Amino acid sequence: MTNVPSKNETILKIEGLSKAFGPVSAVEDVSLSIQRNEFFALLGPSGCGKTTLLRMLAGFEMPTSGAIVLSGENIASLPPEKRPLNLMFQSYALFPHMTVRQNLSYGLEMERLDKAEIRRRVDETLLSTDLTAFADRKPDKLSGGQKQRVALARALVKRPKVLLLDEPLGALDKKLRERMQLELKRLQHEAGITFIIVTHDQEEALVMADRMAILRDGKLLQVGTPEQVYEQPADRFVANFIGIMNFIDGTVGDHGTFTADGYRIALASDRGPGKATLAARPEAIRLSDDGAGLAGTISDIAYHGLDRVLHVETTVSQAPVQVRVTAEEGRNFRPAQQVRLLFDPAKCHLF
Ligand code: ATP
Repeated sequence: MTNVPSKNETILKIEGLSKAFGPVSAVEDVSLSIQRNEFFALLGPSGCGKTTLLRMLAGFEMPTSGAIVLSGENIASLPPEKRPLNLMFQSYALFPHMTVRQNLSYGLEMERLDKAEIRRRVDETLLSTDLTAFADRKPDKLSGGQKQRVALARALVKRPKVLLLDEPLGALDKKLRERMQLELKRLQHEAGITFIIVTHDQEEALVMADRMAILRDGKLLQVGTPEQVYEQPADRFVANFIGIMNFIDGTVGDHGTFTADGYRIALASDRGPGKATLAARPEAIRLSDDGAGLAGTISDIAYHGLDRVLHVETTVSQAPVQVRVTAEEGRNFRPAQQVRLLFDPAKCHLF
């Protein structure tokens, strides 16, 4: 298998795609372009429509309106088996009475490929997914992670143009899940196949995806790289959904200065005067050592490996303001301590 990344070549174009179930608008006017060899994540809270969108791509759900164009061909009305994309189900759906090798061979036998070709492709895929040693085992003799790899191998062996994955790591425990995230990314890279993955786990999307789409109530809110979505969230919902964000309600004055409960932060904002919410990541705030800044009291210190997140009670928001510090800095702080917070205007957003 070779990896020939050819970014900026659209492989899949979704145009004005909608799906209504009676009065429920599950997917509403979604348009997206997905590049060849991209690892693309569809992300959003439960019920946002991501599974419905994936099922329309796979052909298990007929769109109410819109087009799905794969390599220039509108496939929206083709049945699932006629589409050059493959859906890997969350439940894996392995054949329990077949060995791993037979599970992989089955789809190719259905395509009536010749025996030698099937054997060659299955061997190659077993090797790349680290399953050669398990080729003769049946699924019930495999661990959760191994079963997950078999399901993936079975999808990859058919060499789809696009592989659709619905919560592929949903059944695994946290540790295995984290390992498989990197594994999946490596396999995608090596196979040179476009992956579209559905997840509700924002961290998983940040770790794996080249780009991601955030959905809410069937609507597309933002599409971008993990960095773009994290650093430039399109709205308050996205800002809150991805990573930790502090929100402070206040007003913007005549010169772009934001004020909350008498505390002023000068921002280079082109917003007109009026009510606004300031959004700041924990890393956009630092502790002042000269008495300037927003006064607060540490209520909690959360350990996150290399980082500490201080929870600071202030008068500007109900929720404590979360401030990220290094483990080294973290040693200087304890609960009930009075601190002053400084906001980096370049890293703050106004909604
Ligand atoms: P989850 O993460 O919980 O699986 P999701 O983002 O994948 O959620 P969908 O399963 O796509 O969301 O559902 C989107 C909306 O459409 C929901 O309101 C859901 O109840 C509704 N819906 C989905 N499938 C059907 C169906 N077959 N009939 C009626 N309503 C449906």
